[in-house]
Amino acid sequence: MTWIDRAVGDIEQRFAKEMKEGKPLIIRDEKTLSGRVHVGSLRGIAIHGIIAQALSEKGIKNKFLFELNDFDPMDEMPPFLDKNVYKKHMGEPLFTVPAHEDGAENFPMVFGKELQEVVKKFNFPIEFYALRPVYEAGRFNDAIRAALDHHDEIRAIYREVSGSKKPDDWYPLQVICEQCGKIGTTQVNGWNPSASSGQAGPPGMVSYVCKKDLVKWAEGCGKSGTVSPFDGRAKLPWKVEWPAKWKVMGVHIEGAGKDHSAAGGSRDIGKRIVEEVFNDPNPYDIPYEFFNIGGKKMSASKGLGATAKAISDLLPPKLLKLLMIRKLPNQPIDFDPEGNTIPLLFDEYDRLADYHFNRQKGGPNPEFARLYHLAQTDFPKKPKDIWHMRFSLVAFLVQMPHLSIEEEGAKLKGSALTKEELADVKERAVYVKIWLETYAPEKYKFEIFRGKNPYFAEKPLSDLQKKTLAALAVALEKVKWDGPKIHEAIHVVKEEQQIPPRDLFVPLYRMFLDRDEGPQVGWFLSTFKREEVIDQIQKHLSQP
Ligand SMILES: [Zn+2]
Repeated sequence: MTWIDRAVGDIEQRFAKEMKEGKPLIIRDEKTLSGRVHVGSLRGIAIHGIIAQALSEKGIKNKFLFELNDFDPMDEMPPFLDKNVYKKHMGEPLFTVPAHEDGAENFPMVFGKELQEVVKKFNFPIEFYALRPVYEAGRFNDAIRAALDHHDEIRAIYREVSGSKKPDDWYPLQVICEQCGKIGTTQVNGWNPSASSGQAGPPGMVSYVCKKDLVKWAEGCGKSGTVSPFDGRAKLPWKVEWPAKWKVMGVHIEGAGKDHSAAGGSRDIGKRIVEEVFNDPNPYDIPYEFFNIGGKKMSASKGLGATAKAISDLLPPKLLKLLMIRKLPNQPIDFDPEGNTIPLLFDEYDRLADYHFNRQKGGPNPEFARLYHLAQTDFPKKPKDIWHMRFSLVAFLVQMPHLSIEEEGAKLKGSALTKEELADVKERAVYVKIWLETYAPEKYKFEIFRGKNPYFAEKPLSDLQKKTLAALAVALEKVKWDGPKIHEAIHVVKEEQQIPPRDLFVPLYRMFLDRDEGPQVGWFLSTFKREEVIDQIQKHLSQP
């Protein structure tokens, strides 16, 4: 059973009551839009998305809410911004920072749009929402009030779970400074819940200071004042806001990356706060590991190659989806676009298809078959059993201007390609070309060699090789000109001459590709005209 179906089983058990009442199960994930979206965020989206998909498949009502967090303070200067223009915005809520590109309402939504574009390709049942309007609509008001009322308990939870000590006058809230508009620099230091509370200040208001040196990345203006913390004028800090979001959005299922899931981390704190302050259960958790590129952990601010967009440009959506869901969440994903990862991923996809359609060698594997089904991006359609062209072959064909991928596909398959098969091979060709132009290792790059290869001046053919190649040239004159028949002819000559396979194949590849290796030789030679092949062999047998 896949981890996805196991998780769905657990979820069905835990939320049997909600399901019976016909309530949709709420799945939630989020991304703070403070910079270009890192590929690691895709893993979270895929994990939550595939759970939503699997639940829907079973007829279990659910909603996958994805938050575009536009309310956190700007606490980092991405390298692509003009420092002179953007320095003054450091510490402001992200939504007040102006867009650095046309077509977005503000800075965070540039990334919000990019994220949505990338995620759309997976076709998950996903609903996006921005955080700021939820605060502005007052939906966090009760949680803010509870957090302020219980600031002592929250401070104690921080201390007990993570060892972090907050000062006695610390309140878990940050207001937007009325004077400078920053949120990252303010500290709330008083709260009067009601006229009868005996606390200082106007009822329903917090007092705050905007500190010059509260954080390293932004400078406050020094204002102190009192303000209502409700309706979007203030925001909870992450460790309190996260459980507040579970309460406000009614979340049943929410996993989190390793950085949040460590012992004493924000998940542990969130669990205590949701249970003890907001009186709600901790949602069903799926902790997940990192997504590493080229073996190294990526960071959104470094290495532009590691953005979600960059990776999504390298792979067809279903392959990217497979990459994200095939491993257990607690195992890291290592993706090295410069190595063999991409060709192997395509081959794995084809192998899973074999299991899915029961055409594998050997016994069945229900988990493999199921993974193939789940990796499809046209849910709820059922995948069609189609012929796939191997990645390595597509990679070869797209480099051969004299060949049509459609015709060669039909030859290899043994009949004309269906509409779906043609679309599939054409899609592969698009991604293969991108790969060849960007990350493909040299060994995958081919060019047809014409004329006499100087290689043989350094490594002259032995007498046995010459004799075998001469016999092959003769055999090729009569053979039916198709891949399997040519293959057979080569095999017969090889046996007759008692030559080790490499001693025959290497010279053949050298004559046509100037490589020691290449695609299946019979098929490969069949892609040329008979006279061309014989002529090219003869050329290398004649005296210099
Ligand atoms: Zn200020």
